Amino acid sequence: MADYDFDLFVIGAGSGGVRAGRLAAMTGAKVAVAEEYRVGGTCVIRGCVPKKFMVYAAEVTSQLKTAKGYGWTIGEASFDWKRFIHDKDVEIARLSGMYVTNLQKAGAHLLHGRAQIVDAHTVEILPKDGSNDAGTYTAKKILIATGGRPVKPDFPGAEHGFISDEAFHLPKLPKSILIVGGGYIAVEFAGIFNGLGVQTTLLYRGANILRGFDDDVRAHLADELEKRGIKVVLGCSHQRIEKAEDGTLVSTLTNELTFETEAVMFATGRDPYVEGLGLEKAGVKLNERGAIIVDDHSKTNVASIWAVGDVTDRINLTPVAIREGAAFAQTEFYNNPTTFDHECVASAVFSQPPVGSVGMTEAEARHAFGGADIYRSVFRPMKITFYGGQERCLVKLVVNPEDQKVVGVHVVGPDSPEIIQMAAIAVKMGVTKQQWDSTCAVHPTLAEELVTLREKYTPVEVGGIG
Ligand code: NDP
Repeated sequence: MADYDFDLFVIGAGSGGVRAGRLAAMTGAKVAVAEEYRVGGTCVIRGCVPKKFMVYAAEVTSQLKTAKGYGWTIGEASFDWKRFIHDKDVEIARLSGMYVTNLQKAGAHLLHGRAQIVDAHTVEILPKDGSNDAGTYTAKKILIATGGRPVKPDFPGAEHGFISDEAFHLPKLPKSILIVGGGYIAVEFAGIFNGLGVQTTLLYRGANILRGFDDDVRAHLADELEKRGIKVVLGCSHQRIEKAEDGTLVSTLTNELTFETEAVMFATGRDPYVEGLGLEKAGVKLNERGAIIVDDHSKTNVASIWAVGDVTDRINLTPVAIREGAAFAQTEFYNNPTTFDHECVASAVFSQPPVGSVGMTEAEARHAFGGADIYRSVFRPMKITFYGGQERCLVKLVVNPEDQKVVGVHVVGPDSPEIIQMAAIAVKMGVTKQQWDSTCAVHPTLAEELVTLREKYTPVEVGGIG
């Protein structure tokens, strides 16, 4: 039998790679984890975690506004971007350090440097300043967990805009910003910048933001963003960006409208990060999106190579990468064949207000079952009514008319990410609407609306007379 340097060589120390590497190392296997940048990956370093800090910072503005309605008088408030970024970076460094410690405690070897696959059992670490890990290593199994990278559109002047990676380290908060895209990152950062007092415009090329989400959610969120002061521009995109002498960015759109802003941010999607990995040398196959093709066990077409997380472009969410990494480790190192079920994965958009969603949209259910029973409510929650605010929440249940199973739950409003986590358990277990309704409400909460929806919703027909 061949003698390898490692039993497992993981490329990429993000959520999926670290979980797989740590679990494998805990069995006593010899595990190497290579990382070219900082341990923690997108989630910890330039994604979920720093983004959530920014969301918390931005939410304070509306809390201050609400406070006035609750009898508080608060003196002049101000926000210090530089201090916030510094404090955020201290916390990110602490979390990244914890990931390193946990890997080391499990017995994994951390290698600093860019990894390139040489063949089905060999990986080369390229030289990197401050690291002595460069060299060629052999491994019985290789796991690729390199994640994704933001992409920028290609049009004249696009170089003037920045991507989400840079949003976490802007030298100063701009006074105005145009955010391009209608997905998770675009709407989340629109809320962040708007909340921090930046005049914010969201530019999306399609009919409405958050393509793929339930249409009611999309329409409701777009309205709520506007209510909070975000200008939402739909159905057009950039022709060009020009930089004026004073540094102002002038965006000319396909409908000839122009926008002058201090900054432009692109949140126009992420591609699987396979560039320069040497996959062709090992013969690893990619799909038309450039993602690594894997089977249910995250195995590629090469017998000794697996891939998990965003680089496989299945469901690009941190907890999914973690579960894929754990399933790989269980199968290959614990003699416990495990697959991760990608059905019915809940997700949250940390926009303001946030969105929580699990299961089918109304359109998907109508397509799958030839119809759908819809229960929904749009209302002002108690906290908002009390101070006279106009923000509204949306709760919506999608039910299969044949067997009455609840197949989709969608919430837009405060705490919806927390609410949807619990709703996901019921949907995943296949509860019927009757079982759902037998759950007694918790009062007074926003979530109680979900278990008190009794009337079927019929959309109002819009049409001509005669
Ligand atoms: P998304 O794929 O969600 O959205 C990309 C957006 O950019 C879409 O609205 C897309 O339009 C638009 N777009 C793409 N290309 C262009 C172009 N050339 N010009 C104009 N618009 C363009 O990507 P994100 O970058 O927002 O997020 C990446 C992934 O990261 C998400 O899929 C998600 O899985 C994950 N993520 C999850 C978060 C969470 O769980 N809360 C938070 C942030 C990210 P169109 O719809 O027409 O294609």
